[in-house]
Amino acid sequence: MKMSLRLFQATSVAFRHKSSEQKLPNYIEHATGLERKELLARAAGNDDPFGMKVFKRGPGTKDNPNLIPSFENKRIIGCICEEDSTAINWMWVHQDEPKRCGCGHWFKIVEAKPL
Ligand SMILES: [Zn+2]
Repeated sequence: MKMSLRLFQATSVAFRHKSSEQKLPNYIEHATGLERKELLARAAGNDDPFGMKVFKRGPGTKDNPNLIPSFENKRIIGCICEEDSTAINWMWVHQDEPKRCGCGHWFKIVEAKPL
């Protein structure tokens, strides 16, 4: 469900580009490396190329952990243990080592798709 929504958004953005300016904004042309990739991804309709958005936790059990896409073999994640909590519980999660937060939710690193 989430996937098809993302695809639809990408399509609608491409369509819009057809009828308007093709040229990339200046700040993208001057960017290099990862920054450029990120800006290009954003321009193409991917507003979250590095998976920085707040995830909605799933069941988060040991057998069905929350999956964290990562380009590295470890990543800092923040668990908002209670829905209305103002505190975020930050922790490192390492690849192949699912981690359990103090609140009981499990987190696991999965390989992020290359840009
Ligand atoms: Zn937690």
